[in-house]
Amino acid sequence: MPVECPQSLVAGSQFAETEFFSSQIIAILAAILFPVFARAREKARQTSCLSNVKQLTLGALMYISDYDDIFFGHIQGRRDTPGYPYYGGTGFCNWATQIYPYIKNNQLFTCPSHPNYDWAPSWTSPDAYFGYGMNYWLTYFYYYISMADIKKPAETIWFTDCDYYVVYPTYYLHTYPTSTAYGQNGFARLQLRHNDGVNVAFVDGHAKWLNRQAIEGDTGLYGASKYWWGR
Ligand SMILES: [Zn+2]
Repeated sequence: MPVECPQSLVAGSQFAETEFFSSQIIAILAAILFPVFARAREKARQTSCLSNVKQLTLGALMYISDYDDIFFGHIQGRRDTPGYPYYGGTGFCNWATQIYPYIKNNQLFTCPSHPNYDWAPSWTSPDAYFGYGMNYWLTYFYYYISMADIKKPAETIWFTDCDYYVVYPTYYLHTYPTSTAYGQNGFARLQLRHNDGVNVAFVDGHAKWLNRQAIEGDTGLYGASKYWWGR
């Protein structure tokens, strides 16, 4: 006499099978969708960062308009030459400190894709690390330049994603690829934080995202650089 399966067990096995396939479908969907969600989150951070770097630039433009359109240095004064202001390591400040009265929001100095690097006006170190870097060639060897010296303000980068308070031109990336300061992993290099690109803000006040090819392909030194030299 055939043994009949209790109905509850049959139903249970069907349920287990259905559950198994459901969990497989969920796993497949998750594998497809998680990278999409991750990209969407990074896209949101990229947009937020773009807003930060643009607002920093608008603050910087207000600053220089109050100072006869003279650019500020990445460090106020020279610290390596006796006789210059701030020589000896006291009293000088970085560019963030200088434009802060026009910004008045610490959070704008932190890139959302690099959240542990923040800044506060109470910081006294001129060598502070935070979310953004200033184009070193706009403060070349601490000399001061005027807005009138910038020939193509809409193409000349002022601020961008960088660990350091100053960003070195991509020329250095190619010249010293293994340098701890200027090389591929150096603290003073551009950081491709957003979908293999960086947010940049230009001297005319507009900001946009540039991809790796655009930013690292611009290796010209001095006058040959499209994005950095500006004069
Ligand atoms: Zn950023």
